[in-house]
Amino acid sequence: MTEETRLIHSGLAETPLARTVGPPIQRGSTVLLPNAAALYDDGAQLTYGRQGLAAQSALTAALAELEHAEAVTLYPSGLAALTGAMLAVLKAGDEVLVVDTIYKPTRRFCDAVLVRYGVKVTYYAPSLGPAELMSLCGPATRLIVLESPGSLSFEMQDAPGIAAAARGRDILTLIDNTWAAGLLFKPLDHGVDISVQALTKYVGGHSDVFMGSVAVRDGALVRAMDDGVLHIGWAVSPDDAYQMLRGLRTLATRMARHDQSARHVARWLAARPEVAEMRHPALPGCPGHDIWSRDYSGACGLFAFTLQPASAVATAAFLDALKVFGLGFSWGGFESLAIDCDPQLRCRADGDRQDGALIRLHIGLEDPADLIADLTGALDAWRSLA
Ligand SMILES: *Cc1c(COP(=O)(O)O)cnc(C)c1O
Repeated sequence: MTEETRLIHSGLAETPLARTVGPPIQRGSTVLLPNAAALYDDGAQLTYGRQGLAAQSALTAALAELEHAEAVTLYPSGLAALTGAMLAVLKAGDEVLVVDTIYKPTRRFCDAVLVRYGVKVTYYAPSLGPAELMSLCGPATRLIVLESPGSLSFEMQDAPGIAAAARGRDILTLIDNTWAAGLLFKPLDHGVDISVQALTKYVGGHSDVFMGSVAVRDGALVRAMDDGVLHIGWAVSPDDAYQMLRGLRTLATRMARHDQSARHVARWLAARPEVAEMRHPALPGCPGHDIWSRDYSGACGLFAFTLQPASAVATAAFLDALKVFGLGFSWGGFESLAIDCDPQLRCRADGDRQDGALIRLHIGLEDPADLIADLTGALDAWRSLA
């Protein structure tokens, strides 16, 4: 062979690979097949890298164990997982019931895309119980979408009750389980059909990788999700899958710390005169505490509270005074974050709130004493303008 050809064929993959603790990061679109018969032997072995190689399959196996699922499919973002799961089970003429407190980009997809493809979208209040929700269902209702707790205002839904009632009517249920990270609540054990999470948040844990997962148990849904990924063409990179696996190793340890620090900060805030109402499902007296106590094994670092009624200038002063907390929309990483939620609430049926600003905090892995000192300064700034 000439040097030109040798440059192309030298340094290619060797087998077997040395055995490391984590899976190899196999970068590959092309998969080399052993012989002509294998080229079109459907199901015999993987024939193309988009289906995911070693790192992706190690991740789906680990996530299936976490979610108590039969199968997990991966998507390049949490939002893609939510939209991918809905596209996989809905068709023109169906109706989907979506909780009014849904993650706003999911709502945008429902209004902009599902409606365009002939799916009827109906929003329902998160306070509706199973019976009230069933009274909204008609013959075309195919899917009920839950998000519990709502990631801005933290209403809890009776997911087991809703799933049982829906099953009796042959209606599927899907939950955005990002808050629980697959760890604190196991939707499939409670009868929910489809558990979705933005791995971008707690599983990734470092605010630097996007990915989403869909976990299912039922055989027909396993096929529907596989087909959905195949038809639309989602793929995730082995490097990103590896980062998610790395995040999984410390998920439980990080989550315990997020939970402990967040409850500590939330209890401190609850005692402050500037704070009107706490919204942390794990705190007794907060909305949804009964459901949380019944169904969840812990809490994460994300909660919200309302300040006493005051001007928008005072709210901005509170946020601008924060130095340890960053101002940013994401959560689940090692760092603490804050946002005001009101502009995002206006699309909701009850979005025209008259009370004080709703502030959401993500409590990261810092020392909670430093976070409380930061919040003390921010409340001082708020008070000077309230
Ligand atoms: C962030 C988030 C998503 C979307 O995840 P991306 O990976 O950012 O697309 C979905 N649901 C909830 C509740 C989220 O917070």
